[in-house]
Amino acid sequence: MDYAATTPIEPRVFDAMLPYFNDDFGNPSSIHRWGQKAEAAVENSREIIAQGLGCLPAEVIFTSCGSESDNLALRGAAFAARQSRAANHILISPVEHPAISKTAQSLQKYHGFCVEEIPVDPFGLVDPVDVEALIRPDTALVSIIMANNEIGSINSIREIGEVCRNQGIPFHTDAVQAAAYLPLNVDNLNVDLLSIGAHKFYGPKGIGALYVRTGTEIIATQTGGSQETGLRAGTLNVPYIVGLGEAFRLAQVEREARVNHVKPLRDHLISSILETIPASYLTGHPTQRLPNHASFVFDKVDGNMLLIKLDAAGFAVSSGSACKTGNPEPSGVLLSIGLPHDLALGSLRVTLGSSTSFQDIEAMLQIVPELILQERILASKQPFNDNNERN
Ligand SMILES: *Cc1c(COP(=O)(O)O)cnc(C)c1O
Repeated sequence: MDYAATTPIEPRVFDAMLPYFNDDFGNPSSIHRWGQKAEAAVENSREIIAQGLGCLPAEVIFTSCGSESDNLALRGAAFAARQSRAANHILISPVEHPAISKTAQSLQKYHGFCVEEIPVDPFGLVDPVDVEALIRPDTALVSIIMANNEIGSINSIREIGEVCRNQGIPFHTDAVQAAAYLPLNVDNLNVDLLSIGAHKFYGPKGIGALYVRTGTEIIATQTGGSQETGLRAGTLNVPYIVGLGEAFRLAQVEREARVNHVKPLRDHLISSILETIPASYLTGHPTQRLPNHASFVFDKVDGNMLLIKLDAAGFAVSSGSACKTGNPEPSGVLLSIGLPHDLALGSLRVTLGSSTSFQDIEAMLQIVPELILQERILASKQPFNDNNERN
């Protein structure tokens, strides 16, 4: 129940990849027939992805993962905008994945860009009006996450993109978490740059892609050979690119069935948790959220202890806080949506997928209320996290 962290490789995806590890192992840059066969497989995958995104195949750049796509988009567009029009300002949201937020921080710290965060509402959503107000003539690019990995909320990317388009500012969206369930037509979304990563939609780990709209100013950050129209050097990972293509194709053709499988289970989980557990709250938007995503905070509960106890009981789930030796830090996403420090420490994320059954949900509902009660009895006997001075 942690499909937002990663997913297994779909058997059809695995089968499609296999020949390219040995029989058809050529380098797609080679002129001979082994090279040509590998190149054909890569170009077929590029076409499948382009079809799903509603773009030209030449606008799809293969990368090693979602994080690399985010890095290439941010660094590549920021450096290009500085070069061509002395732009120095980057707009992001406070609920970005670290692949965006840490990259923006790095551009600020080591390259002198000025990074500004657009505020979010209590659901973690960006208001397009705020984007319009904060865009400046020297804004290099705007980057806003499409569907949030921690709280599931889905931003109004189309409307934000329209604002950026009208101002002539490049717009990137991190669609790594969104790609499993949401249509990603880049023209409908008004985006210039869009990141995906295969392992969030039943493809292999370690492969991703960046959509780059024709005409978008961007420079390479990984230099070397002339692969990927010079935008990303390195011999292409043919089997994984084939896997990415097949996984993306299946995500399009099976979208409705996948949504119909997870959404009723997710809805049942959310309503039951909120009904049976006092002082429990849904984080993220109640309806404008990923169909497989449930996320909560519980008052007077240590989220990390809850995870450990659920793991012991056989449930794989996640929380928003990174456990740092006796001094847990709540997630920045949960703080930025306005949750108090201690409440944010009691977070739980349950994300469903292909293997999740109604029985799994029922089994979890049998155990979570009792674990939370135990945690609260413990908490009432100890000062919460020895951390009260920080409240
Ligand atoms: C998983 C994830 C990433 C990182 O993708 P990797 O392929 O694991 O590097 C980036 N953004 C979001 C929203 C994600 O969920």
